[in-house]
Amino acid sequence: MKVEFKKIPQNGLDFKLKFDNIDFYGVAKKLDKDIVKATGTIKGSFIHCCDRCGEDFIKNIDQKFEIYASRGIYKNDEYLNVIEFFDDFIDFDRMLQSELESFKCDYLYCTECR
Ligand SMILES: [Zn+2]
Repeated sequence: MKVEFKKIPQNGLDFKLKFDNIDFYGVAKKLDKDIVKATGTIKGSFIHCCDRCGEDFIKNIDQKFEIYASRGIYKNDEYLNVIEFFDDFIDFDRMLQSELESFKCDYLYCTECR
């Protein structure tokens, strides 16, 4: 799902997408012409290889996110978790993937190893 920066309203645009068993939904609000703040929930499950024993297991995820989308290079350091977009469109699928990747960056263990 891609939406043009200029089409994101100040009072917010609802978005909802799905990737495999993961739902990603929330509201995107324009803060200024080049910055959009997206907040919401990422929830569902995915198969992950245990970082200790190497067995595949189902990992559940249910957490809030706050992501900033920058049109072009983000030069300030006011916000953390900024994703830069270079074609005037916000790609919500990329946001989902980015959030999922950062979740997977932590060591995740199966129930046996926890
Ligand atoms: Zn394990």
